[in-house]
Parts: sequence; structure tokens; C-alpha cells
Amino acid sequence: MSVDHSGFSTQAIHVGNEPDRITGDIIPPVHIASTFVMDGVGILRAGYDYGRGTNPTRDAYQVTLGALEGGEAVAFPAGLSAEDTLLRVLSRPGDHLTFSSDVYGGTYRLFTRIHAAEGRKWSEVDAGDLAAVEQDLAANRPRVLWVETPSNPLLDVYDIAALAQLAHAYGALLVVDNTFASPYLQRPLALGADAVIHSTTKYIGGHSDLVGGAAIVASDLVVPEGIEPWTDNGLVSEELVLLQTATGAIPSPEDSYKAARGLKTLAVRVDRQSRSALEIAQFLEVDPRVKTVNYPGLPSHRGHQLALSQMSGGFGGVLSFTVATPEDAIRVCESTQTFSLAVSLGAVESLIEYPAAMTHGTKEGSATAVDPTLVRLSVGLEDVEDLIADVDRALG
Ligand SMILES: *Cc1c(COP(=O)(O)O)cnc(C)c1O
Repeated sequence: MSVDHSGFSTQAIHVGNEPDRITGDIIPPVHIASTFVMDGVGILRAGYDYGRGTNPTRDAYQVTLGALEGGEAVAFPAGLSAEDTLLRVLSRPGDHLTFSSDVYGGTYRLFTRIHAAEGRKWSEVDAGDLAAVEQDLAANRPRVLWVETPSNPLLDVYDIAALAQLAHAYGALLVVDNTFASPYLQRPLALGADAVIHSTTKYIGGHSDLVGGAAIVASDLVVPEGIEPWTDNGLVSEELVLLQTATGAIPSPEDSYKAARGLKTLAVRVDRQSRSALEIAQFLEVDPRVKTVNYPGLPSHRGHQLALSQMSGGFGGVLSFTVATPEDAIRVCESTQTFSLAVSLGAVESLIEYPAAMTHGTKEGSATAVDPTLVRLSVGLEDVEDLIADVDRALG
């Protein structure tokens, strides 16, 4: 199954972006008011009363994002607050959560330190080993199976449709962190997932100028049996909004605007980033100074066939590679000029990082520790010739 791209950019630009009815502004204005005047006691003029509840700029952005992912979107001030709120809606203390062993470090910390301390149980599985996943599901009966694909930092690709089927057979919901692919390259809800998570800090924002997140759920998804809902109907989209309003985990109007603007250029950015990343991967793959290259767009990558079948339009802008020694890897990371040494990804600026001590430093010494000769690149929008020359020079 591949993603239907017809209309992606048209929707990104127009859905939720109707010109202002009164002034004709071609883009919706940014509504920064914290409170809204009422026409009478309890009579709201346009459905708004207070900024922690709802805000027109945030609403418009959520409509656009929901259309692009094919579900109901709720925006948050960080990817991790989206994850935390979703977990609290879909599970209760005492429940079990199963996640792929290569989830984002912050996700790992949220599950194993915060939610575990509150009484949730957890286990890790290799999401590429369906037999192992099934064994875990049968033994632990988790509420939620949580995966990230492509994953970080090895760009492993996991079979969303197969995992959804397995999860459902054991009464679990499948959550896919779609940050690396973005809705332009992959739409997990259409493949059978129940919920999608984004760190909009990355591709959706796309310009290194906001921290944000979102949860997108199938519009008819209700909380699992055995969980007492907080709302009358138990719809997950409404439970998310209730918990968000109750705790105040809201993105600012300015960040909502920036993320909405990012959506409009998402397709052209990711197209270019994917093409450049493939060219850089091809350059590195035949370079004797490089040992292995991880990029799902390379036929040599173990996830290539699966990526072809569940992604479309490209393979994203992140790749990683190994060199001879840890010292070489650190030297490469510290020697580039166009690639900046920094964590994060998905922006217009190209970034380089050393996962073993940076993004994945907390895993040092564990069974899932990252290869100390690994270097990760997030390819931006600079000219690819300059990017290749930069990496070439840094390899020495
Ligand atoms: C960055 C990231 C997150 C966390 O998002 P924040 O916006 O930093 O809170 C979650 N998942 C993935 C895959 C990420 O890259």
C-alpha cells in the first residue's frame, strides 16, 4: 500500500487556511488573545472563551495537520507532551506498555522513569522481529504497542500494517511516531495504526525555530475497554483535548502559526531533503573511508523493500554511517563546516551529530548502546554539492 499524494500540498496550503471573512487576509491572522469577549453570560461569539481551552490559530493548524495525516489532530507544546498526554488517555497505572527498543531517548525516559514510577509496566521488543513482538503481546497484553519508523539512528523500517494487525489481535493499540517520515512520506493511520505522534520541532516546523508536538488519532477511536473515560463518549480525540485543557499542555498561538506555515512547504522541503540525502548516501556507500551507510533509500539497506511499500515520495533526510574508529567519528562530527554539530533534525540547516555521546548518550553501556563509530546526518536544503564536499573534507 502506498500513500496517495494527490492533493497533499494543495491541502497543506488551503485546508484550515481560508481567507479571513472580515478583512480578507489571505492567511488566517495569529490570534494572540488570552481571553475572548462574550455576547452574554455563557454566550460565546465564535466558540472561544479562554486561551488554555481553544484558540483559533491552533484550531486552524490542527485542521490542516489532521487532513494531512487522515485523522483528528491535537497540537502540543512539545513532542513529549503529546506522547505523555496520549499515554495517559490510552492507559492507566497497572497497565503494560510495549515499545520498540530503538524509540527516541526522551520517549524511553518518559516510559521507564515517569510512567513506570506511576505504576505502568513496560517492555522493549525488536519491532522488526514479528515473532518476538507477538510473544511480547501474548505474554504482557499491553494496552499500547509503540514504534518509530524509520527509526533513530539506524533508520530501521518497521511494518506498520503487520504490527497493527498483530497489536489488534492481542487487544493492543498501535502508536506510530511519524516524526522521521512526516505525513508527506508516510501516513500510518491509513496503514492501520490507531494513533500518530509527531515532534513538530523537526520536519513540520522545519526551521529550527520552535519546539512542538502533535497527536493524531483515527476520528472514531475510543478508549480501550476497561478504561473509564473522562468524557461522555470516550472518543480519544476528545479525551486528549480534555486532558490537555485540564493540565494546560497547549502550544502558543505563535508556535501554532509557525508549525502551520511549515506544513505549507513540507512537501517541497522533504522532496529536496530526500533527494540530497540519497545522493549523500550514494557518495558515502562507495567511499573507502566509510564502513556502512544506513539509509532506507539505498537498495543495500535492510528496510529498503518495506520502505518502498509503505512510504512514498522519498525516504527522508536523515542518514547515518560508520567509520573506522570512534576517534574518526568524533573528528568527522567536529570538522564539518556546512553541517552544524547539533542534535535535532528535519530543518533547513544541515546537522551532524555523534549519537553515542549525544542523542543516544543515555544508552551507553546498555544492551541497546549505539555503535561508537556511528555518525548521523540530518540533510537540510543547502546545495547538495556543498554538502558532499563538506562531508568529503571532514572524512579527511
Ligand atoms: C525529537 C523527537 C521526539 C521528542 O519531541 P520534542 O519535540 O523534542 O519533545 C520524539 N520522537 C522523535 C522521533 C523525535 O525525533
